[in-house]
Amino acid sequence: MTQTNARALFITGIKNAHAMENQALSIMKPQISRIENYPDVARRLEQHIKETEGQIARLEDILSRVGEDSSTFKDWALSMSGGMAALAHTAASDEILKNTLANYAFEHFEIAAYKSLLALAELGEITTACPALEANLKEEEDMAEWLDANIRGVTLHFATLSEAGEKAKV
Ligand code: MG
Ligand code: FE
Repeated sequence: MTQTNARALFITGIKNAHAMENQALSIMKPQISRIENYPDVARRLEQHIKETEGQIARLEDILSRVGEDSSTFKDWALSMSGGMAALAHTAASDEILKNTLANYAFEHFEIAAYKSLLALAELGEITTACPALEANLKEEEDMAEWLDANIRGVTLHFATLSEAGEKAKV
């Protein structure tokens, strides 16, 4: 593989990650606005939204450093938005559970994406991008760990509220 080809794969991967992070925002933001009974979840989502905005800025910085035209980049990102919107589970009585499972899956998708990008960065010898990609990866791993540690608690809280007749509330 030539370095030119490897760099092209890397740039496509960064654009994919940028679209993925915009999708992450569109999944998390509606959740926060609906949560009433799970303040810990709301706080952690709030934190991760801020982290995600920083991740997007890191990806845009990487892209500008490899000399990619940012206008075509934005067009592409917009065309990709909505691809995983089916992950939103509004109006289900067990919305908090469905969202918890979907968020867990999405964070693992992100983890895989950054591990793949790190491999492409090495292949294309764009190792200056690695610290920023590692930083994004770490935030996804931390979020995935938090979700993992809270699946049981959220489920039991949901069960308690459900028994108390508050099943329609998120
Ligand atoms: Mg992310
Ligand atoms: Fe994430």
